[in-house]
Amino acid sequence: PSIDADALLVGLNPQQRAAVLHHGGPLLIVAGAGSGKTRVLTHRIAHLLATRQARAGEILAITFTNKAAAEMRERVASLVGPSARMMWVSTFHSACVRILRREAATLGLRQSFSIYDSADSQRLLSLVARELDLDPKKYPPKALQSKISNLKDELVDPDAFAATASGSNDFDQALAQVYTRYQQRLRQANALDFDDLIMTTVNLLQAFPAVAEHYRRRFRHVLVDEYQDTNHAQYVLVRELAGAGTDAQDLPRGELTVVGDADQSIYAFRGASIRNIMEFEADYPDATTILLEQNYRSTQTILSAANAVISKNPGRQAKRLWTDSGSGPKIVAYVADNEHEEARFVAEEIDRLGDSAGVRPGDVAIFYRANAQSRALEEVLIRVGLPYKVVGGTRFYERREIKDAVAYLRAVANPDDDVNLRRILNVPKRGLGDRSEAMVAGHAERERISFGAALERLEDVPGLGTRAVTGLRSFAEMMADLRALADSGAGPAEILSVVLDRSGYLAELRASEDPQDQTRVENLAELHAVASEFEQSDPDGDLADFLERVSLVADSDQIPSDDGGDDEDGQPKPDQGVITLMTLHTAKGLEFPVVFLTGMEDGTFPHMRSLADTDQLAEERRLAYVGLTRARQRLYISRAAVRTAWGVPNEFPPSRFLDDLPEDLIDWRRRESSNDRLRGPGGFLGGRSGYSSGGGYGDRSGSGSGTTPSWKKSSAASRAGEPPRKAPGSGGATFGSATPRPDAAIPTLTVGDKVTHDAYGLGTVVAVEGGGPNAVAKVDFGTEGTKRLLLRYSPVTKL
Ligand code: ATP
Ligand code: MG
Repeated sequence: PSIDADALLVGLNPQQRAAVLHHGGPLLIVAGAGSGKTRVLTHRIAHLLATRQARAGEILAITFTNKAAAEMRERVASLVGPSARMMWVSTFHSACVRILRREAATLGLRQSFSIYDSADSQRLLSLVARELDLDPKKYPPKALQSKISNLKDELVDPDAFAATASGSNDFDQALAQVYTRYQQRLRQANALDFDDLIMTTVNLLQAFPAVAEHYRRRFRHVLVDEYQDTNHAQYVLVRELAGAGTDAQDLPRGELTVVGDADQSIYAFRGASIRNIMEFEADYPDATTILLEQNYRSTQTILSAANAVISKNPGRQAKRLWTDSGSGPKIVAYVADNEHEEARFVAEEIDRLGDSAGVRPGDVAIFYRANAQSRALEEVLIRVGLPYKVVGGTRFYERREIKDAVAYLRAVANPDDDVNLRRILNVPKRGLGDRSEAMVAGHAERERISFGAALERLEDVPGLGTRAVTGLRSFAEMMADLRALADSGAGPAEILSVVLDRSGYLAELRASEDPQDQTRVENLAELHAVASEFEQSDPDGDLADFLERVSLVADSDQIPSDDGGDDEDGQPKPDQGVITLMTLHTAKGLEFPVVFLTGMEDGTFPHMRSLADTDQLAEERRLAYVGLTRARQRLYISRAAVRTAWGVPNEFPPSRFLDDLPEDLIDWRRRESSNDRLRGPGGFLGGRSGYSSGGGYGDRSGSGSGTTPSWKKSSAASRAGEPPRKAPGSGGATFGSATPRPDAAIPTLTVGDKVTHDAYGLGTVVAVEGGGPNAVAKVDFGTEGTKRLLLRYSPVTKL
């Protein structure tokens, strides 16, 4: 079937058209967000096929995610027909796996080689480090793993590294030994780790010219999207595959097309370098560069905001980007008192947009900097019945670390909960092997007792070696201690802290240099926040009550909540799609009609770790640019004045990126957090928390007066620029003065102190956490219940 190739050019602007039609030397397309880079790649591929300049098998297109690859393949197929499905459109890693499977024999690998994931490779590294007698405290496997990963990204093999490491510090010398042996062991196991996939392919192409020639002849067109996020190994791989290097005159040359935007480089922490895009013309002297300047995605308002933020980055090349899609609505900004209120604002607004502007859930994306932030959002969405999915991440209660921690708590609450007990028996690793576990399990079965009960009487279990007995016994003792703690009346938050501490779970994650493990720590902090909120909302609840609450939420987690049950006219809502929740990193390349950018606080976004480092701050700013430019029509920006981690509410200043947004682009719905409301029943200090489902959606408005959504009520006052109101003397429980105390006036409390509180009366301090402005005291007010108070705000006086 002949396809009208010219039809593929219709609607493209002159620069886009030139990029699609370009023929000959390497082509670089650099342009800001939403200017049609990905669209040009797609149309270029379709045009090559339609004009028979290339067959599907001769094209290699690289995208950043598998999802993007599938979309591009389908898009091309819809333009030129199903033969396009033969094309190699894939990520770098998948393309390398395909090449390596084909060429395994050349490398002396079996074709069935395994690919080690991060956990596999860490296990192997621990083994190697132990064989080399390295102290795991000084050389944590996680640290070794991330160093080796970096070396592979830089194409430094063990020999090369050993040569540079000799005579350097102890760590590098040990690392060199580990690296060498680790690669040997991978080889013996017929395995490659994730980073090997790229490095080994590069080695293959460089060491075997015939193989390189084969692929260069085969892939006459190599096209790479998101080129700004390639690392060194990927950069060299592209050169090898395209045969476009200066040293490759005698080999066939493919045509290379790369597209990217230096302002959207957000993976420097994984070795990506904008050098590759900045130096493209130096790397490929006969390169052509095309700039795209028209943005087709966003309104002028959104574009101006994004430009204002990115233009603050030092040393960047300014770009012109314009749109003719009109100015559109202003950016809506909202300051919430805390993360729950922020989530509520987002949900209420999505609901309102559905009624007033026909916005469907599928049109909406909610972004956040860190995975852990999804939890507060998810809970509100579940409660109000808005369907959502978490993309590129697992739903909160399905995350491994959350399941592990909850398994501990379940095993504490119920000594006979065999499934959970066995889940955590060797998590983190404590040298308890499958064999010992099987022996205990077999004994339990024969005696018709639970696994937990068998652990209590190890001397009865036949066949266990002394090592195993020692290990199992110390595990059983730990569990017994944890149960004693629970029996003594400790709340779920405290039990969780002790669990994570005693088990070594947290220490292991903290010692790791893997960014994913830092995310796990954040998620556990978030679970701790869940537990603290539970304690506030349910002062009499114990661990079992807490676990029951968790299972209810976790359960509704499994069920897609788009049953349309509480639709007003009872109509189901077909094809409305679901709200997308994702981190900013995952959002790259995508677009949505409505975008909520949440957690705009210094310390949240930009991330705490970046605040003291100019390079990292510049990367965070690029991430902000990526986030802002995902929006097509409506953009919302919100922040929470107070966010809770590890049970400690922390006050965060506004994100510095907010300061860069031109005032005239913004419609402030609420400009400041009202300290009044911090004190009301809806605030984090109050008896009701976001975790409590209480009376349901909408019942948490500050002073509890009726059904007006809280944000509507507060916005009038704050927009008028009134100073924060003093807490009203009436209208429900209040904590008194709304004004934070100066630091000096925060009372220093210790357990046992007697205090008085304006609203709760006389109480006894039962626990103190944090210090300085973040000091929190847990105070038992007798009949008023036990309250957690952020002392900075709370009118407590020490007696
Ligand atoms: P990013 O930098 O975010 O990856 P991009 O430069 O790859 O963005 P695309 O995603 O290709 O941009 O395009 C953005 C939007 O503009 C898409 O919806 C695309 O279909 C549309 N678009 C691009 N070019 C045109 C055009 N010439 N006419 C109409 N729509 C266009
Ligand atoms: Mg793109």
